[in-house]
Amino acid sequence: MAGIPKELIRNRELTVGLAGNPNSGKTSLFNHLTGGFQHVGNYAGVTVEKKWGRLRGPHGPMHIVDLPGTYSLNAFSEEERVARNFLLRDKPDVVVDVIDASNLERNLYLAVQLNELEVNLTLALNMMDVARGEGFELDLQRLGELLGAPAVETVGHDGRGIPKLSAMIRDAGLRELEPRRVDYGDELECEIEALTEMLVPTDDLIFPARYAAIKLLEEDPEVHDAVRECCANLEAIEQRLEEAIENLARYFQDPPSILIGDRRYGFAAGIAREVTLRTPRPDRVTQSERIDGVLTHRVMGVPIFLAFMFGLFSLTFTLGDPMMGMIESLFNWLGNSIDGVWPAGRHEWLHSLIVDGIIGGVGGVLVFLPNILLLFLGISFLEDTGYMARAAFIMDKLMHRFGLHGKSFIPMLIGFGCTIPAIMATRTLPSKRDRLVTMMILPFISCGARLPIYLVLIPAFFPRGWHAPLLLGLYILGILLGLVMAKILGKTILRGEDTPFVMELPPYRLPTRRSVLLHVWQRSWMYVRKAGTIILAISIGLWILMSFPALPEEGAIPNHGGDDSAALKAQKLEYSAAGRIGRAMETLTDPLGFDWRINTALLGALAAKEVFVAELGIIFSLEESEGESLRLREILRRNYTPLQGVSILIFCLLASPCMATFSITRRESGRWRYAFLQWFGMTALAWILSLLIFQIGSLFIT
Ligand code: GDP
Repeated sequence: MAGIPKELIRNRELTVGLAGNPNSGKTSLFNHLTGGFQHVGNYAGVTVEKKWGRLRGPHGPMHIVDLPGTYSLNAFSEEERVARNFLLRDKPDVVVDVIDASNLERNLYLAVQLNELEVNLTLALNMMDVARGEGFELDLQRLGELLGAPAVETVGHDGRGIPKLSAMIRDAGLRELEPRRVDYGDELECEIEALTEMLVPTDDLIFPARYAAIKLLEEDPEVHDAVRECCANLEAIEQRLEEAIENLARYFQDPPSILIGDRRYGFAAGIAREVTLRTPRPDRVTQSERIDGVLTHRVMGVPIFLAFMFGLFSLTFTLGDPMMGMIESLFNWLGNSIDGVWPAGRHEWLHSLIVDGIIGGVGGVLVFLPNILLLFLGISFLEDTGYMARAAFIMDKLMHRFGLHGKSFIPMLIGFGCTIPAIMATRTLPSKRDRLVTMMILPFISCGARLPIYLVLIPAFFPRGWHAPLLLGLYILGILLGLVMAKILGKTILRGEDTPFVMELPPYRLPTRRSVLLHVWQRSWMYVRKAGTIILAISIGLWILMSFPALPEEGAIPNHGGDDSAALKAQKLEYSAAGRIGRAMETLTDPLGFDWRINTALLGALAAKEVFVAELGIIFSLEESEGESLRLREILRRNYTPLQGVSILIFCLLASPCMATFSITRRESGRWRYAFLQWFGMTALAWILSLLIFQIGSLFIT
């Protein structure tokens, strides 16, 4: 294989593509190579995530692009298409294939295809610690010779082998290894050769000629389109192809695509066998199997899983609440300190903006950070041990009944924390349809931001014994409605086959501190960033809406005390833009039992659910103090009936996914229409259900 000229690579920044199967440790290697400094975006025109970064140091600089994790390059999934297109169009100088050494045969299948794409390949034999532990011994020298690519061993989570790998990438142009080609057998080779010859004169074809010939026989639509676009002798090629496919199918009783796949697998298996000097002791393998015997048991699997989840949620709240109290006091202290030093009567509006608007709004959201952190810590741990893959496997049957994919379950689980990362997690789903259905129903899962609403409203209207069952009921209602919606969507606008679940179960692994912390950090940071950007902007916007236009002096109730009285505050609020909007909304929400004050708070929840409770607090003119939510509950009880309470709860559970959800649905689905459908559909459903509950309930309770 032609390398890059020596002088060139000494003076230029190389572009390196990182390819590999999912779970091969690609992300870990990427993080080590780039030192954790990376950019995240999307590949042009699709929703597949693109990560890139730079390697500095003695072997740098290099520009490293993390390709989507794939098992093959057949262009069946968006990830595979994206990976292949990147390799062909961006032509990275070097492609590093990250191979899980403990699962060599399956991983080599991708390496073989990369070779067929004629990229400049380097192999990183990752998970060498696991492979050795299991008793494998590999001949890397031999592997390099067979694949025409140098191989180096690495251990992704502690960075062993990284310096050698980067040196090897840098020297990529100096080698003269010729990869061994897959031999497809006489009959196929004859056709491949004939087609290759017909394709060779075409300069514009981005695919290497032999590769294109093989892919034409495999009936790859993208390659066929490319050939159609740029080959002058198209008619002859297509005629030859048609005859070849027909003859081969008749001869082998199978279409060439199957034969080619089989040969390729056989080739990978052959290489694996040839380079494996010693095979594992069987006892290590059975250990994972023994654990699986219990955890994925047909009957016990689900209860065990539910128990794990229950434990995780309880822990999140029992450990999270004290920390939450501490953050709450911190923000109270901050607000009080500003009150203390602010010169009386000077720039009152600015004082109110900072204390009520910014600290109140952003603080109210950051308070939940400990709960979110703990939840993600637990989920990351379960993910990294390999248990979450099992959870998806266990829930697969139930999910399929509602037209969802087994893997849809993981985003749903993340949705309990926040819908945003949950929607991003749909990227792990194999087909666009599965991804869309899952994305559309995710806001039905009660996110962490809705929890404070429940925590204020439920105790306000119901006796203690009802609290936990009602809370659980709300969560379950959301899930059930989501599942039903998935079924409806799957039968109507998102019709299509759900893809079968073929995920392999990776062996159990003790997660490393680094990988768990990195996951938690990435997710928590997203939450904090949301508080510091979107929520900050919304808080300021809402504060303006709630403060202007200001009540003219003569309209106000005479002010007896030094401070605004509660009644005056309420009057000011009603006079403000937010108050007026709340009043205007009454025609729509009166039949649901809401008044202008609830409407105004709902307006806040439009932007972010967290704002609802804070808004209620301000509306009812509360002064910030310790027992705040207690007093708020009391006031709510005095102003509304339990029936109104239920109506509000249902509405908050279902209505209007927050603005961030709207924009992420738009981004991830690639279409405005899905974001609008989700938003209006859920709001309409919320309105109808609340209407039914309030109107029917009113017949019985008067
Ligand atoms: P990706 O899906 O290919 O991006 O894989 P990740 O980098 O996320 O790794 C999957 C899991 O394997 C994580 O828990 C890593 O900590 C772990 N891991 C990565 N490389 C190695 C390795 O060489 N040895 C071991 N034992 N674990 C590894």
